[in-house]
Amino acid sequence: MKHRIIIVGGGVMGSSTAYHLRKCGYEGQIIVFEKDPAYEYASTPRSAGGIRQLFTTAINITLSRYSLQQYKQFSQTMKINGDPAEIDFKQRGYLFLATDDMLSAMEKQQKLQNELGVPSRFLEPAELLAIIPELNPTDLAGGLFCPEDGYLDPYSVMQAYKYEARKKDVEYVSEEVDMILHDRGQVTGVKTKSGRVEEAKVVMNCAGAWGAELSEKMGLPLPIVALKRQIFLFDPAVPLKNPLPLTVDPTGVYFRHEGDRIITGFSDHVKPGYDFDWKRSHFEELWPILAHRITNFESLKLESGWAGLYDYNLKDQNAIIGSHPEMRGYYMALGFSGHGMQQAPGVGLGLAELICKGAYETIDLTPLRFERFAENDLVLEHAIV
Ligand SMILES: Cc1cc2nc3c(=O)[nH]c(=O)nc-3n(C[C@H](O)[C@H](O)[C@H](O)COP(=O)(O)OP(=O)(O)OC[C@H]3O[C@@H](n4cnc5c(N)ncnc54)[C@H](O)[C@@H]3O)c2cc1C
Repeated sequence: MKHRIIIVGGGVMGSSTAYHLRKCGYEGQIIVFEKDPAYEYASTPRSAGGIRQLFTTAINITLSRYSLQQYKQFSQTMKINGDPAEIDFKQRGYLFLATDDMLSAMEKQQKLQNELGVPSRFLEPAELLAIIPELNPTDLAGGLFCPEDGYLDPYSVMQAYKYEARKKDVEYVSEEVDMILHDRGQVTGVKTKSGRVEEAKVVMNCAGAWGAELSEKMGLPLPIVALKRQIFLFDPAVPLKNPLPLTVDPTGVYFRHEGDRIITGFSDHVKPGYDFDWKRSHFEELWPILAHRITNFESLKLESGWAGLYDYNLKDQNAIIGSHPEMRGYYMALGFSGHGMQQAPGVGLGLAELICKGAYETIDLTPLRFERFAENDLVLEHAIV
């Protein structure tokens, strides 16, 4: 196939897809439209970069497991100016702390994870202390831990995909796509805000939190909204003895090391919308939870933080990947609901296989098809952070 492909959005999804299209041997022209080439508001650089296999559905576990293998060898397989593309992947583990009432669900999750090859294991409170000596386990029954997991630098991942894609003649255009054009149920191209029209028989919507709006303009609404999420960076007065795994408290508050400091966040209830207003005062809600869990967090200096957007799927908090049944040539990779970094390598590969080979080969992504909503075949994931 040699016809032109247009990708809307050059974040980690769009860039991974462009890279994998070339890797799969796609020889036609590929244009990526990116409205914000500095990536000031894109979700990718604002992400916490957590990479975990501790999911509760087979598709999410499989996707993360694949991506984790890619991230482990990223600096050997990807290059920037001939140098290894470093992504600072710290495999310090992922840890979901649990109270008594969470144990039976956690047992089921672990069983599925282990069946799919994930080396997750349940830790008793005493074992938790070996990992985090400063932890307060008094109200905990234990935790589910996966030592292979960890966190990385999302911006570097995105830039490496982009660099390799551009090296293989993928063109990045700094313009905002206003409309995806179509005629009689077939995509025909895009029109940008400046009025430029580019024709293409395949258009991929990788526009993150802005993607649903673009789809709606074509008359194809998606159950996705933009939701603000905040991250706080602080410096504890007394440093911790060990580097932290990405740790999720039973309240949903998560924290991990960022250098010598700590980043933390929480999924609070906010109205959907493009809101980037970081509220320092919000930390007052998190602090008691943090101080209760880790004694060293009682005394700290809040340094800074930022807000970013989840492209949040209201139906089942999972991605929508693949073609749209009502529009030939229209593909989507949207709705990641806060777990896109750990899916980007597998999603880019899957979309590339769909285009180049006509079907998914490496990972079957059909559970994440758009049609699942009409078929009432939702992918209900219970480990959303
Ligand atoms: C605070 C926070 C914490 C997170 N933590 C994690 C985590 O720990 N682990 C994890 O796996 N995931 C995490 N995520 C989610 C992850 O960051 C996203 O799922 C992922 O980055 C989505 O990538 P994307 O390429 O789809 O979106 P984006 O990075 O937003 O890229 C989309 C791009 O499309 C461009 N665009 C939009 N509309 C148009 C248009 N009309 N024309 C041209 N360009 C357009 C935008 O400018 C943007 O650059 C987090 C997200 C946030 C906000």
